[in-house]
Amino acid sequence: QVYADYSATTPVSPQVIEEMMDVYHHSYGNPSSIHQTGRQARQIIDQSRREIAGLLNALPKEILFTSGATESNNTAIKGAVYKNQHLGRHLITTSIEHHSVLHVFQYLEKHGFEVTYLPVGAGGVIDITDLKHALRPDTILVSVMFGNNEVGTIQPVDEIGELLARHQAIFHVDAVQTVGHLPIDVKELKVDLLSLTAHKFFGPKGIGLLYIKDGTSIEFSQLGGSQEMKRRAGTENVPLIKGMAAALKEASEHLDVHNIRLMQLKEYFLHSLQQRDIPFEMNGDKNMQLSHITNLYFPFSDVEIMLTLLDMAGVYVSSGSACTAGSIEPSHVLSAMFGENPRTKRSIRFSFSHDMTEDQLDYIADQLLKIYELNKERSGLNG
Ligand code: PLP
Repeated sequence: QVYADYSATTPVSPQVIEEMMDVYHHSYGNPSSIHQTGRQARQIIDQSRREIAGLLNALPKEILFTSGATESNNTAIKGAVYKNQHLGRHLITTSIEHHSVLHVFQYLEKHGFEVTYLPVGAGGVIDITDLKHALRPDTILVSVMFGNNEVGTIQPVDEIGELLARHQAIFHVDAVQTVGHLPIDVKELKVDLLSLTAHKFFGPKGIGLLYIKDGTSIEFSQLGGSQEMKRRAGTENVPLIKGMAAALKEASEHLDVHNIRLMQLKEYFLHSLQQRDIPFEMNGDKNMQLSHITNLYFPFSDVEIMLTLLDMAGVYVSSGSACTAGSIEPSHVLSAMFGENPRTKRSIRFSFSHDMTEDQLDYIADQLLKIYELNKERSGLNG
């Protein structure tokens, strides 16, 4: 079996599990309780928040713990828009965002906001001049992802941060796929809001964060207790918070070594496909791409068939396309890059981890060769 779907989710690192188990066993108090067990849990949250803030170059009070990036993105976008609607009703995002961003903008459009969706070229990267043209005095929010989850392309968020530093618009970045692959320094990026989720960097599922730059005015909707500095009511999930801090520390410490290994693996994989004469083309600009994601167009087969055959052979990968009632919708990211094109239904995303082996990649390539040969035989019979 070969798992090559690390941008969908990662297993939890053994060290992270150990740290979480310690909290489950010994620090089960409610962090809002004033007795010793409660205070112990509170200390774990405070310590984790300080560690995470340090790794992102943020202040501890700028970190809001959430249930994951879907919640972070919802809070960031709706919160910024509702709080600042008196300053304008125009919003900007890109056509290749994750659904937890895109669907929020579509919802806001239905509620009277105007949204500009920036296009991408065939390389899967936005053009900063399009953003310059789209910006208006009544623009109140710009949301652009750091690294795309389907094709791995890196957007010019540092240039956008520079541009927006002189504009009223709040700048939100979904940086979910970049943790452990690119350094994330919120001050250097000049972002106001930034979303992360732990299960993409060997941490647990169901925990994430929203960085909120000090002074950024956003509205919070989850009311109740005074947890998270009155920004998100509800008893904190202490083990998961500790787990996220431990996972972020590991990811940051090994960033360079892991990236070098991932780049080697990507090159090796492309080379092993070429050696087997399997026809393919890469989706997304290779020079502006995260090291762990490789999205390939295979002209000889539809993605449903390929994913099924690969699954049967124990190879676990994805397409960016959503599967609805047994039929696969073309990926919105590939459609934004190529328009109506067979590519949107014949592409697969491989996402690797630093601890994969060349043998595993050869196994994937062997299975793809079998599918290619099967298709050649079939089209020979039909022709
Ligand atoms: N944003 C991006 C770019 C993602 O890849 C994902 C996860 O697939 C999310 C947001 C949502 O994260 P979660 O499912 O943890 O809420």
